[in-house]
Amino acid sequence: MFENLSDRLTSVFTNLRSKGRLSESDINATAREIRVALLEADVALPVVKGFIENVKERARGVDVSKALNPAQQVVKIVNDELIEILGGETRRVRFAKTAPTVIMLAGLQGAGKTTLAGKLARWLKEEGHTPLLVACDLQRPNAVQQLQVMGERAGVPVFAPEPGNGVGDPVRVAQSSIIEAKRAQHDVVIIDTAGRLGIDTEMMQQAIDIRQSTQPDEVLFVVDAMVGQDAVNTAQAFMDGVGFDGVVLTKLDGDARGGAALSIRQITGRPIMFASTGEKLEDFDVFHPDRMAGRILDMGDILTLIEQAQRQFDEEEAAKMAGKLASGEDFTLDDFLQQMMMIQKMGPIGNLLGMLPGMGQMRQQIDQIDDRDLDRVAAIIRSMTPGERAEPKMINGSRRARIAKGSGTTVGEVSSLVTRFFQAQKMMKAMAGGMGIPGMPGTRR
Ligand code: GDP
Repeated sequence: MFENLSDRLTSVFTNLRSKGRLSESDINATAREIRVALLEADVALPVVKGFIENVKERARGVDVSKALNPAQQVVKIVNDELIEILGGETRRVRFAKTAPTVIMLAGLQGAGKTTLAGKLARWLKEEGHTPLLVACDLQRPNAVQQLQVMGERAGVPVFAPEPGNGVGDPVRVAQSSIIEAKRAQHDVVIIDTAGRLGIDTEMMQQAIDIRQSTQPDEVLFVVDAMVGQDAVNTAQAFMDGVGFDGVVLTKLDGDARGGAALSIRQITGRPIMFASTGEKLEDFDVFHPDRMAGRILDMGDILTLIEQAQRQFDEEEAAKMAGKLASGEDFTLDDFLQQMMMIQKMGPIGNLLGMLPGMGQMRQQIDQIDDRDLDRVAAIIRSMTPGERAEPKMINGSRRARIAKGSGTTVGEVSSLVTRFFQAQKMMKAMAGGMGIPGMPGTRR
């Protein structure tokens, strides 16, 4: 999900990379491209319009920052606006002051309610709660049995109608479940309700009746994110019918375009609270708007990096290095060392490098780097002659042996550093033509 949108947005930002400053026409062109990207991802039109207006307004108002180039500023704006349409803050479950907290699930058949009930139960149990699952979907054949299987897997008991006792009356089952929860000291009740293939007045009335008779603390609307624009219409119908407090997006593991996820919060005014990403019980998590925005932008945590960089880097040194690279001078081992030192000041190196965009592929290499390695790297570089540092290609076998001896390391370590340096040099060259990061060589042309 979101792959196409990610690709499109990334290319919008790449087109901006060489701008020194954003003109009105740059802003309009960028806004147009973002608009197309969102529409292609199936985001609802009113949501796209609002999004674009906000981005344009903020892009016009940006200061010419010493620390961020225009591409980075636009990334930041788009990121902020994505978080905003996804709901801003993470919305947690509101637990009742007196147990049990009642959570009711509503949604169309096939949305993933029963599966979700099991996931939610497992998650709540892990959070230290004692949930009770309640089977109120008495319409779909096997729904009760399916919930029992879920309950078993989650290790959570299921309350279901006994044959002959209220069979066919989900309202009575729901009411009895609350009495049972109090008796058996369950602090949360999760009510799975019946869905239909489409919006249906009888189904909606049943949901309304269950809601009125159990007074849930949270009514969660469960929706299949794969269904695209229809999800928005269904959400609206449920909002007007039974009403709900939060949304659960299911099947986020699918390859749909993801527009539903981006529209639903704005259209219904209700936060997305959970995301379901597979058929297994553990494919489930609290929905975090900021993390989802980060995933869509595929920027890793570049914004965090930018902020940390602003705080930690020596602006002048950084500018000098950026200027040097932009002018086409070679990235030397001295620069490499200096950069490593700057990065070292910023915290565990693995975390930091992982924040750089495009670093996904380099993950393996990054994972091999250890903070303590830095001291050895520094020792190796310091054992080289100035000529070797400037022109590392000259470091042949006998020079490697001398350097290893001088730095108290092995020839293998010296070779591995030289290889790593050449890789970094290649990357720096690529980045000099890409989006600069303050303090890291790049361009601010
Ligand atoms: P209900 O009718 O709303 O109760 O829907 P179900 O819970 O029975 O789910 C319908 C189908 O979707 C089942 O085959 C589930 O295994 C599947 N499903 C549910 N959630 C997810 C999910 O997050 N990802 C994927 N890939 N499949 C899911």
